[in-house]
Amino acid sequence: MQRQVAIVTGGAQGIGFGIAKALGHSGCAVALFDINSAALTQASETLAVSDIDCRPYRVDVTNRVQVEEAVVAVTHDLGNIDILVNNAGIVRDKRLVKMGEEDWDVVITTNLKSQFLCCRAVVQGMIARQYGRIINISSRAWLGGFGQSNYSAAKGGVISLTRSLAIELAKENITVNAIAPGIIDTPMFQGFSAEVRDQLRRTVPARRIGTPDDIAQAVLFFADKKSSYITGQTLYVCGGRSLSSPSV
Ligand code: NDP
Repeated sequence: MQRQVAIVTGGAQGIGFGIAKALGHSGCAVALFDINSAALTQASETLAVSDIDCRPYRVDVTNRVQVEEAVVAVTHDLGNIDILVNNAGIVRDKRLVKMGEEDWDVVITTNLKSQFLCCRAVVQGMIARQYGRIINISSRAWLGGFGQSNYSAAKGGVISLTRSLAIELAKENITVNAIAPGIIDTPMFQGFSAEVRDQLRRTVPARRIGTPDDIAQAVLFFADKKSSYITGQTLYVCGGRSLSSPSV
């Protein structure tokens, strides 16, 4: 089978790294787009040890020029892009009265505009070849979260972006789907205090914090060639937390 090429944004750490590893193990060549140079070096060295064909690209995914140049570089280095996983994201939680304009802008730009930029940069090649798999990482928090008006709005935007692009691109044999993770153990989650982490764990019906591998499993499903009739969908991977049962 012909080798596929995947881009994973925010692929140097956390969920993105788990996704890159899983795609690599499934036989893809993987391009990591990340702003964190030190983490990029470490991630690509770790993946190379597992014989994964992986290339690091230092990219700020909020920057149109950097995104477009990196996509050209990946096509040159690895070949045509089959799979794009828009994963890079940040949180800047604050109650509205404390939220500055910069807190709003940086969260919307990093979580949402970046996905528009990356989709636009890869899609012409996908249309030309009549094949593509785009997977956008949203969050269960799109349903709403205290102190998360910026993040929740961005992640809701990701779902709307996914649905609209799915309609536009279906006839080109390009699927566009979203994943809404619950609480996942990554550097982002480790940033909370031990007390908050334990409180969060108790809100999960499955009574465990998810792992990057849990999200990677869903990515592999959407990225599969055989998933060609599934588009515009959002899959919760959250141990049941999106069900919001008051008894748990
Ligand atoms: P991490 O912070 O662990 O990793 C994200 C990576 O993206 C980091 O290497 C980060 O670099 C990089 N990054 C940040 N901004 C940019 C940028 N502008 N350009 C390129 N790379 C960037 O995050 P997670 O793995 O926890 O989260 C991944 C995705 O999953 C995000 O979209 C997040 O919103 C979503 N998610 C996470 C959940 C969780 O519980 N962890 C739950 C639900 C959704 P740096 O280290 O410099 O910031």
